[in-house]
Amino acid sequence: CDTLDKATSFLHSRPQPFCLPNYVRGELSVPHSPSTQFFDSFEPKTGSILCRVPCTQPDEVDGAIRHARAAFPTWSRTSRAERSRYLRRVSELMQEHREVFAVWESIDQGKTLQRARVEVDRAISNFAYFSTYILHEQTAARMIDGVALTYEHRSPAGVMALISPWNMPLYLLTWKIAPCVAFGCTAISKPSEITSMSAVLLSILLRKAELPPGVVNIILGDGPTTGAALVASPLIDGVSFTGGTQTGIDIRRATAHQIRKHLSLELGGKNPTLVFADSMASSAREKTVQVAATAAFENQGEICLCGSRIYVESAVYAKFVDEFEKYVAEKYILGQTVSAVASLQHYNKIRRYLQLAVEEKATFRLGGVPPPLDKESNQGYWIVPTILTDVAPESALQKDEIFGPVVTIAPFEDETEAVRLANDSEYGLAAVILTTDGARMRRVGEQIEAGMVWVNCWLVRELGTPFGGMKSSGIGREGGQYSRDIFTVVRTLHLPA
Ligand code: NAD
Repeated sequence: CDTLDKATSFLHSRPQPFCLPNYVRGELSVPHSPSTQFFDSFEPKTGSILCRVPCTQPDEVDGAIRHARAAFPTWSRTSRAERSRYLRRVSELMQEHREVFAVWESIDQGKTLQRARVEVDRAISNFAYFSTYILHEQTAARMIDGVALTYEHRSPAGVMALISPWNMPLYLLTWKIAPCVAFGCTAISKPSEITSMSAVLLSILLRKAELPPGVVNIILGDGPTTGAALVASPLIDGVSFTGGTQTGIDIRRATAHQIRKHLSLELGGKNPTLVFADSMASSAREKTVQVAATAAFENQGEICLCGSRIYVESAVYAKFVDEFEKYVAEKYILGQTVSAVASLQHYNKIRRYLQLAVEEKATFRLGGVPPPLDKESNQGYWIVPTILTDVAPESALQKDEIFGPVVTIAPFEDETEAVRLANDSEYGLAAVILTTDGARMRRVGEQIEAGMVWVNCWLVRELGTPFGGMKSSGIGREGGQYSRDIFTVVRTLHLPA
C-alpha cells in the first residue's frame, strides 16, 4: 500500500496480523523451527497490533551465517564496478518505492509521514553514496628513500553482523548494509524487534535487484536470543552495532575474547545545546530558537543526536526560555508535527522520568506527566513536548538519555562554565553551539567532548565525514573511509624499488 489511507484500510480489513519473514539466501520465509517464538509488534499511533515478528533461534541464526559465509568468496572477488551496479540498482528501486517505505515506516515506528520521507531519502542516499565511493577511493602508496615502495592493500573483512535500533529503522539499517556490501563483505542484518517492517520491504527489493543469494541476509528477532547469538558466533568477523550504551557494553563483553572481530559501536547520547547571549540578538534570535527546538524535538526527540540539555547564558536566559516555549507550543503540535513514541515500553520509560520531574519539583514550562497506559489501553503512545527548568545538575533528568520529547533548560554564567556543563556527561555523541562570534565557534567547539559538533545548525550531514561518539557514546567512526576501516582489513606491502 503506498498511501496512509490504503495502508490503514488494509490493516483494518485483515482477519489477523501478518507474520514478518526472514530474508536468508535470497528467500523470504517465516522461520518454522519448533522452538521459534513470535511476538506482537504494535502500531505506536493506535496501540493496536500491527504484525507478528519471529524471534529467530540460535540454530537458525547459525544457518543464516553459514549462507553468508558461503556467499563471501565470490562476493568479495566481485569487481567494484559490478558491486557498484547492484548498489545503484537498489537505490533506484528504493526511489521507485519511496512512498511505500515512508508509509510503512511511519505506521511501524510511529514517526510522522514527513519525517519518514526524509529518512527514506537518506536511506536511498546511503546506497547511492557507497555505490560511487568504491569506484573513486584512493589507496596510500609511498616510496621510502628510493629503497622500497610501500602501499596499503585492503580486502573485505568477511561476514559482518549489522545490528540496528528502532528510532530510524530503515536509515540506520542501510547505513550499515550499503558500505558492508560495497566493500565486499557479506552481511547478517538484524533490525530492532520493535520496528522490523522496513527491513522486510528492503529484503523484497534486494531480491528484486537480484543481489546474489546470501550476500545480505536479514533476520528478525530480539536482542537476548537472536542478537546475542549473532554477535557471539565465531563465524562472524565483525559487528557494526547502533543502539543503547548498555547493549554496546554487553556486545563488547560477549566478543572480548575474539580479538580479531571488528567492532563498531554507535551508542547513546545526552547532547548539550549551548545558547550564547549574542545568538539572541534580534538578527539571530529566530534561527537560534528554531535550531534549538528542532534539535530537541525532531522525531519526538528519538534521535541519538537530539539536543536534550539546553544551557543558556544567564543574561538571556529568561528571554530564551519564553521564546523557546512560545515557539515549541506553536510549532510542535501533537498529531501533526509531533507523533507517537515508538513503543509502550518506551512510553512508560519517558513517563517515569516525568514523574521524577514532579517529585524533584522541576518546573514544567510545557507538558506534564502523560496518563498511565497498558497493553489493553489501545490508544497509542502520545507524549506532549515537554520543557523542564529548575532541574538539579545531578538529577537523572540531566544525566540519563531519556530519548523522548523532553528537554531541560538551565543557565550558565560564562564560556568556561558552558564548556564544563556541556562536558559534564558520561556521553559524548553530539553538541550544538549557538553563537554569532566566529572565534568562539572554534574555541568552544574544539573543547566539547563530542564526536559531532554543530554550530548554528543541526543534523547537517555529509556521508564522508566521520560519524560516531566519544566517551560512552561509542567506539569507531562510520562514513566514507571510516566505514571502509570497519569493513576491510588492511595490510601494508613493501616492495624493493
Ligand atoms: P538497544 O540497544 O536496546 O537495541 C538495539 C539493537 O540491539 C536491537 O536490534 C536489539 O534487538 C539489539 N540487541 C539488544 N540486546 C542485544 C544483545 N545482547 N546482543 C546483540 N544485539 C542486541 O537500543 P534501542 O532501544 O533499540 O535504541 C535506542 C538507543 O540507540 C538509544 O540509546 C540511542 O541513542 C541509540 N542510537 C544511537 C545512534 C548512534 O548513531 N550513536 C543512532 C541511533 C540510536
